[in-house]
Amino acid sequence: MKKTDSARDSLCLYKIDASDRIVEVDESWDRFALANQGTAMASKQVLGRELWQFITGEESLQIYRSLVDRVRGQKVAARFYFRCDAPECRRFMSMRIGLGADRSVYFASRIERIEPRSAVSLLDSAIVRDRRMVTVCSWCKAVKCESRWLPVEEAVERLGLFAQPSMPALSHGICESCHTTMENQLHW
Ligand SMILES: [Zn+2]
Repeated sequence: MKKTDSARDSLCLYKIDASDRIVEVDESWDRFALANQGTAMASKQVLGRELWQFITGEESLQIYRSLVDRVRGQKVAARFYFRCDAPECRRFMSMRIGLGADRSVYFASRIERIEPRSAVSLLDSAIVRDRRMVTVCSWCKAVKCESRWLPVEEAVERLGLFAQPSMPALSHGICESCHTTMENQLHW
């Protein structure tokens, strides 16, 4: 792929064609995907498939679709911040979504900073899941506790999720704060 200025120092770049199929992923994709999501997200599994099937949570899916529509329709780039944590660190990321040739759209994500912390097993993709369920914000990793969204470390404490042999399953949503931020991205 020809690198653009905005993409030069990206951690990870991928591109969808006019029919939303993933047509390119850069060399850092596999390193990142394998470390965080396992082999199901390896480049050979995702290339040629529609982007939407890899986005978890109905609300996140709607937001991504709206962002892509906006990028294509108004020929502007979208930029937002999100978290892609590992159990042992908070990973603050930025994403830029821009228009390529022939209505293709590229996604360039970059690590802005990393903060180490004590490992949070709730976010460990390898841990055994039980029948309990908690909702995590796909964008900031806040966890819903009753009616409040709490930072993941605080939620884990509140819910007593330490040193347990299994963890609740995760469902993905979006907290009020991230919802407002993303709405603003769509309407500026
Ligand atoms: Zn959030």
